[in-house]
This record gives sequence, C-alpha cells and structure tokens, in this order.
Amino acid sequence: ASLEELDVQVPARHRVQDRHREHVSEVSRGFTNVADTDPSLPANREWGRQMLHRSTYTQLGTRTIETSTVHGPASLETLVRQTRRAGQAWAERGAEVRSWILHQAAGALAARRGDLVAVMAAETGKTIAEADTEVSEAIDFAHYYAESARRLEVVDGARFRPAALTVVTPPWNFPVAIPAGSMLSALAVGSGVIVKPAPQSPRCAAVVVEALWQGGVPRDVLRYVAMDEGDLSRSLIAHQDVDRVILTGAWETAALFRSWRSDLPLLAETSGKNALVVTPSADLDLAAAHLVQSAFGHAGQKCSAASLGILVGSVATSERFRRQLVDAVESLVVGWPEDPCSIMGPVVEEPRGKLRGALTELAEGEEWLVEPRPLDDSGRLWSPGVRTGVAPGSEFHTTEYFGPVLGLMAAEDLDQAITWQNATDFGLTAGIHSLDPDEVSTWIDRVEAGNLYVNRGITGAIVQRQPFGGWKRSSVGATCKAGGPNYLAHLGHWHAKDPRT
Ligand code: GLU
Repeated sequence: ASLEELDVQVPARHRVQDRHREHVSEVSRGFTNVADTDPSLPANREWGRQMLHRSTYTQLGTRTIETSTVHGPASLETLVRQTRRAGQAWAERGAEVRSWILHQAAGALAARRGDLVAVMAAETGKTIAEADTEVSEAIDFAHYYAESARRLEVVDGARFRPAALTVVTPPWNFPVAIPAGSMLSALAVGSGVIVKPAPQSPRCAAVVVEALWQGGVPRDVLRYVAMDEGDLSRSLIAHQDVDRVILTGAWETAALFRSWRSDLPLLAETSGKNALVVTPSADLDLAAAHLVQSAFGHAGQKCSAASLGILVGSVATSERFRRQLVDAVESLVVGWPEDPCSIMGPVVEEPRGKLRGALTELAEGEEWLVEPRPLDDSGRLWSPGVRTGVAPGSEFHTTEYFGPVLGLMAAEDLDQAITWQNATDFGLTAGIHSLDPDEVSTWIDRVEAGNLYVNRGITGAIVQRQPFGGWKRSSVGATCKAGGPNYLAHLGHWHAKDPRT
C-alpha cells in the first residue's frame, strides 16, 4: 500500500454522523424530535425532563465504575508495565481481530446511546441534540479506525510497529467523541491504552470505556485511571515507557506536558481562535445563520467555534445582515439540557478570568450588539453576547475564550479580512461566506487553518469526510488529523526493513 491508499471508505450504511445532518437519528429519535417541536408546549418540556430523570444517569452516579486507582509511584510503575505488556499481546492478535472487535465496540456504543446522552447532559450541560450527535461521531470513529487499521502493516515498503503504550488525556467539551476517537485510534493500531479522564467529565469517559470493554476490548489493554491532577499525572505523562500521548486541550497544557518531558511523542489538538469572513457577494441570510450556529453551538465551548465574524465592506453596515444576526441570536432558546427545547445550554462552570471579562467588559471602541446576561443563580447559564467594533490586534481579536460570546470586525476588503483572520497564534478552523468563485479561491490560497469551510458553518467536522486538526498553535507534535487517513500512521514507528528478518 502507499500512504494515499490508507484512505478507507466505511460503507455509508454504517456511518451515522451524516444522517444527523438531516435530524434523523436512529436510536434517539424521540429526543431529537421533541427538541425540534414547539417550545411553548409544556407537555414537551415535561416529557424531556422525565426522559432524563428516568435515564441511567442516576444509576451511573451511584455505581462504582471499575477504575484503576493509582495511589503512588509504585502502583504507577505496575500500571505502566502491565498495560504495555497487554498492549504487546493485543498487537500480536493482528489487525483483523482488532478490527472485528472495534466494529463490535461501535455496536456497543450505539447500544448505550441513551446512557451516553444522559451522562453528557448531566455532567457537562450539553443539550440533548448536541450530545446525541456526539454519540454518532464516536460510533463513526470506531468503524473508521477499525477499517483503517487493516491497511497499516506495510506501507511504501516500510513496516509499522505500533506504540506499545498510549496515554489519552481527553477534554470535557466533547466528553464522549474525543476520548472515544483517541482511545479507538490507539486500540486500532494495537497499542495498550491508559485513559485519564477530564476532571469535569469522568463519567462520560467511563461509559465509553465500559462500552469498548463490552465490545470485546480486553480490560487489561484499556485502562481507565482516575488520578488527581498533581504529581502522579505528571509522572505518568513524563514516563519514559509511554510511547504516545494523545491530548486534546489548551495549547498551554501541551506546552506543560513538553516541559515535563522534552522528547514527549505527543499528538495534540489544541486551542483555536476562529473567524468566519462574510463578503458582500454572500447569501447574507445564510451567513448570519451559520455564524450564529458556529459561535453558539455548545455555548461556544468548541475549539472549532467561530469567535469572530469578519464583515467585509458593505456587510459591516448592512441593516439586513445586522437584523438577521440579532434575530438569530435572540431566538436561541437558552436553558438546561433537561428542557428539550434548549438550543444553547449552560457553560461547564461559572465563568472566571478571561471568559468572565469577555462576557462583562468591553474594550475601547467596542459596543454590545447583543449584551450577554446571566439567566439564573447558578452562574452557568448565560444568554449569548455579540460585540461589534473589535479592533485588529486587540485582546478580543487574538484570545480564545471558549464561551458564548462573538466579536465582529469590519474589514475594508477581502485582503484585509484574510490578514486579520490569519493574525492569531492559532489556525484550527476558518470559514468564508462568498458566492464569488474568485474570492473563494483567493481565500483558500491564503488562509492559514487546518479546517476550511466555504458557505457553511465552521464547526462539526465529520469522520472520514472532514478530518479534524489545525496549524500553528492549534496542534502540537505530528501534524495529522483525527478521523483522517494519516492519523493512525502516527501512532507507532516505521521500520524501513522488517525488523524480524
Ligand atoms: N471536532 C469538533 C468540531 O469539528 C471540535 C472539537 C473540539 O472542540 O475540540 O466542531
């Protein structure tokens, strides 16, 4: 095989993420449909509340999930040694067997869709519709990596030897799809895996691990380790016998990991400060809708979120665009996930530091087009905010906030818009709305980001069709994209000659 040939096609009937685009989810049809119905009907709300309360979250909350608890350096050594050894045995079982097991794991994830949705809603505040979509992404990762792994063994004459031990440190914002994708990629190549869940969403990761075990992944190959953030985590990440660390989180966290071990073999998807450019040739109604969707999906808590709208020329002063945007923002129903009418949920914890500043303070020259407000006493539920007059080089232009606040910039022309779009440390997602092909091709040639989106929203990458990963400070370590053809090739070593001959 050659590197290009690593690109596999999972039959469409197995892929569920795409179907969500049409709001047709097989298993949780009830959830999605209710969320789509008239919010004013109290019966719908009540139904949604009951669904969540009856869900297994209550059981999951009281049941102890089988974890490997690490108490000190001695047990850390044992954990690392055992998981490495189990990983080597897993590799020896061969790609066909692993692939078969991961397809079964996809089925187990699908079977636990209800649990996964409920635990995401309860632990992070994710709305039912968004949590539901996320389960689909996890299932697609399982099928996709299961198929991809079968092609890996010999590429361009070199032999692949998987990492024996991979440590996965997932984020809380996609608490199911990202841990699932990271674990599944390492398992697919034949590595042992230790997953250290995000402190905000340990149960989400636990249910994923349980599903993978149910699918047939051996328990000693995949270890779930609840450990505190202190010295032990550091000892694990920096351990010389760890062959790969897969991190999704802030760029600063990747830098911290590197400071612990300078030769750390790290695959990290990190921060973003993403903008959507709108030119006067665009379909302005659609552009406004996509900007709002990209900015406020999951209350803006996505690395991929649109944090800036860069409005070119007459768009910045267009009354029509302004009205469409304000209407779209004000029509977002903000609420807790147990209310099935909620379109935008709470933020994961009460905003502090720079996010609080972004929700409550304006810089010179900025004004609120829509002012964000706290909606209840929890401190977590905020209405979405839009500020205008963000100046190039200002704090809002270059800082990632990870919350429900969008900034608008007014650019003279496309050239200036692209310059501003590129003028951050990051390069994760970027979008343009334009119906002029010349503008679009100029933009594609110049924009610096991993995922480019034309005339659509800039979040919601799709396994296999739109692999996800960035440039600059949006990725650290190997430049490869999750859910894409080259990802697995980075989870091991390549030998020019067969080491056994
Ligand atoms: N893959 C997600 C998307 O395309 C973003 C993941 C993240 O925020 O880390 O929207």
